[in-house]
Amino acid sequence: MFQEKIINDEILAKMSLENIFKIFNDNVFPMLNEEERKYCEELQQFCIELHPKIDKSKDVYVLFPELGKNGYLQRINEWKDFKPYGMKKEILLGTHISILDPQLELGRVASGILCANPTFHYYHYGGTGDTIYKVQDELLSGQKVGCIGITEPERGSDAVNLTTRCTKTNEGVIYNGEKVYTTNGPKADYFCCYGVYDTGNPRDTMVQGMIAREFGVKTERLKINSVPRVHIAHTILDNVKVPKEYVLADDGLGYTRLFEGLVPERLSIMS
Ligand SMILES: Cc1cc2nc3c(=O)[nH]c(=O)nc-3n(C[C@H](O)[C@H](O)[C@H](O)COP(=O)(O)OP(=O)(O)OC[C@H]3O[C@@H](n4cnc5c(N)ncnc54)[C@H](O)[C@@H]3O)c2cc1C
Repeated sequence: MFQEKIINDEILAKMSLENIFKIFNDNVFPMLNEEERKYCEELQQFCIELHPKIDKSKDVYVLFPELGKNGYLQRINEWKDFKPYGMKKEILLGTHISILDPQLELGRVASGILCANPTFHYYHYGGTGDTIYKVQDELLSGQKVGCIGITEPERGSDAVNLTTRCTKTNEGVIYNGEKVYTTNGPKADYFCCYGVYDTGNPRDTMVQGMIAREFGVKTERLKINSVPRVHIAHTILDNVKVPKEYVLADDGLGYTRLFEGLVPERLSIMS
C-alpha cells in the first residue's frame, strides 16, 4: 500500500529514539529520584538495543522473551531478582515501551499485568500450591502469552452483570459463556476469566479462574485494524473444565479481586 510522506527527511532523521528519550529526560527527570532515573536509563538502553531488532511485519509476541529476560513484562510486583519494582516503576516501564513500540506495549500489559497480576493476588491472599507460580513464571519470562476475559458481547462496560456461567463440581469449576475484545486471546496460553454461579447475584458468586487454552478455550480473531501486530479475540468457553488449583478466587471473591485488580491494571493501561 502506498504511504503518503508528510515529514521531510531532515526532520525524520532527528526523530530518533535517542532524541525522544532526551526530551523525556529533560521533562521527567526533575520529578524522579536517583533510583528512578537510573531505572529509566537502563530501560532506555534496553529500548535502544531492541529497536533495530524489531520487525514491524511480525506480531509483537516474538518480542515477549526479550522483555522477559529483563523482567520487563511487568514491574508492579516483585518477581525473581528484578528490581526496582512498584506502581511508579510500572508506569515508567509502560511509558518507555510505548515510545519504543506502542503495539508491543498493548500486548505486554494484557499478558504481564492483566493476566499475571491476579497470580500475585492469589498468593497474597493465601493461595497455595505451585501451579499458579508456574503460570506466573511462564507469563513473566515471556515464554507463554496471557490475556484477561471480562468483557462480554452484550455487557461491554458492565463488568459486574456477567452472563458467563460457572458450575461447581468436585474437581473444580465449569465455565460456559463468551468474551469479546480479549487482547492477545488468539495467541494466548492462559485466559484469566470471570464468570458467575448465579447471574442474578454476580457480586456474591463471581469466580476468577486461570484457564489454560488446553482446557478447551476456543478463540476467533477480531479484525482490529489499528493494531495489526496484536491479536484480539472473540473467546468461547463451551463447557471448559477448570481444575481446582487453577481457580484463583471462588464464591464471590472473584468480584473483589476483579475490582481490586482493576485499579493497578487501569493505571498501567493509562501509562
Ligand atoms: C482494543 C481493545 C482491547 C480490549 N481488550 C480487552 C481485554 O483484553 N479484555 C477485556 O475483558 N476487555 C477488553 N476490551 C473491552 C473494553 O474494556 C470495553 O470495550 C469497554 O469496557 C467498553 O465496552 P464496550 O466497548 O462494549 O462499550 P459500551 O459499554 O457499549 O459503551 C459505549 C459507550 O457508552 C458509555 N457508557 C457505557 N455504560 C455507561 C454508563 N453506565 N453510564 C454512562 N456511560 C456509559 C461508555 O463510556 C462508551 O462511551 C478491549 C476493548 C478494545 C477496544
